Amino acid sequence: MTFTFNQEHIFIDGSWQMCNSGELIDLINPSTGNLLAKIAKGDAADIDLAVTAARNALNGEWGELSAVERGRIMMKMSEIILKHSEELAIMEANDVGKPLSQARVDANAMARYFEFYAGACDKIHGTSIPFQNGFTVFTLREPHGVTGHIIPWNYPMQILGRSVGAALAMGNATVLKPAEEACLTALALGEIAQKAGLPKGALNIVPGYGSEAGAALSAHKGINHISFTGSKPVGTLVQQAGATHVAPVTLELGGKSPQIIFDDANLNEALPFLANAGVQNAGQTCSAASRILVQKGIYDQVVSGMAEHYNKLKVGQAKDDCNLGPLISLRQKEIVDGYLNLANQDGLELVAQGFYNDDLPQGGAYVLPTLFGNVSPDHKLAQEEIFGPVQVIIAFEDEADAIKIANDTEFGLVAGVWTENGGRQLRMAKKLHAGQVFINNYGAGGGVELPFGGVKSSGHGREKGFEALYGFSTTKTIAIKHG
Ligand code: NAD
Repeated sequence: MTFTFNQEHIFIDGSWQMCNSGELIDLINPSTGNLLAKIAKGDAADIDLAVTAARNALNGEWGELSAVERGRIMMKMSEIILKHSEELAIMEANDVGKPLSQARVDANAMARYFEFYAGACDKIHGTSIPFQNGFTVFTLREPHGVTGHIIPWNYPMQILGRSVGAALAMGNATVLKPAEEACLTALALGEIAQKAGLPKGALNIVPGYGSEAGAALSAHKGINHISFTGSKPVGTLVQQAGATHVAPVTLELGGKSPQIIFDDANLNEALPFLANAGVQNAGQTCSAASRILVQKGIYDQVVSGMAEHYNKLKVGQAKDDCNLGPLISLRQKEIVDGYLNLANQDGLELVAQGFYNDDLPQGGAYVLPTLFGNVSPDHKLAQEEIFGPVQVIIAFEDEADAIKIANDTEFGLVAGVWTENGGRQLRMAKKLHAGQVFINNYGAGGGVELPFGGVKSSGHGREKGFEALYGFSTTKTIAIKHG
């Protein structure tokens, strides 16, 4: 099979149709700057149709399915994704600009999310509660109802997999609003759902601008839960919109995640992770390790090891599968260039940069991966999320100093710690402000099973793993008085 869905359509109630306005948005290939496709410019009227279709699905065939039947359909979706993973990877690579091998990882991860949540559908149980004599009390886990999913452009397949996958597993009916910069694989999910026999209305997909389709989705009174992944400013707006109709909101926002290297660390193990976790997906990763904290005694050794790595980082078109592709857009490049200019103005120590592949197209949004050393922890480059392939190295004295520097940003998403000292591993894990702490690794290879989310300005609520299923459902307590 090759995908045959109409890229210019929206997916509502199990079928493809033109959006209300009939207007289209240009989707640009970030590797070349050329037009890749045109997508629908969904608006409030389309969102309204999608929410109605989802509500009808809950009251119809989708709502009638048992948990095991839901799981079987989701397993079919996973199988179809796996079978077509190469096609999906090429679609994502062209759309997002990510190197093909990284897009392949993402396609497999999307399949894995549907597989994991397919298996979990019938494994979330309520409890029975010992209560007063004459009563029997138990709880049911129930879907929220219609869930809204607003996702960004950096990892469309992975993020919709974890968000829509968990919501469907709990029996919700979903409305997905992908990002206007990259949304082809999100649309492909509609065709995958059709092929797998997902009842109509359980999944609806409306591309469009955030300020139109996104804002309409988060403010829609028919939405019972919103899962938002994106920037802090927009997350704040979505939470405010949800609050007007008291909808629970999960916020998966940005980060400024540290990797902390102590002088007893196994540097052979650590060094490849230090740079890669910062430049993967051209640094456009919420959990990018954008700060490298190094204990003073090994500072020079770590800096030269990282520089050696950086000098080999090649930037090229997604199809050429170099270490890095372009950024998502020229607008994003302008933001990252702004930080690089600031670093230059402030005299930050440039440690190393990667290099460009030959014959890069003029219109691509390319930036070299760049490493700065001896950066003060309070400098803008050490505090703000750059969302580009830029890392800063900060020196620290001891454990207390490392914790202070690591926790001293507004974010708290992920942290990595490299040390052979067991006591220190546990002390650090407990004291770091982060939703995930990795000891002697970073990211655990993606970890579909591992709960993920932030503290502080990185957001609240958890996706991924079993824990997401509690977020996408609610508890009903039933107390029966029988004497
Ligand atoms: P963004 O906030 O600009 O956009 C994200 C989504 O929100 C898009 O679909 C967009 O159309 C929509 N949107 C925009 N304005 C809206 C509005 N007013 N109402 C409702 N929806 C609206 O973010 P971005 O630039 O696309 O993505 C980058 C950000 O996402 C970074 O901060 C990154 O750290 C974060 N992110 C977080 C995670 C995580 O899991 N924590 C994962 C990936 C990305």
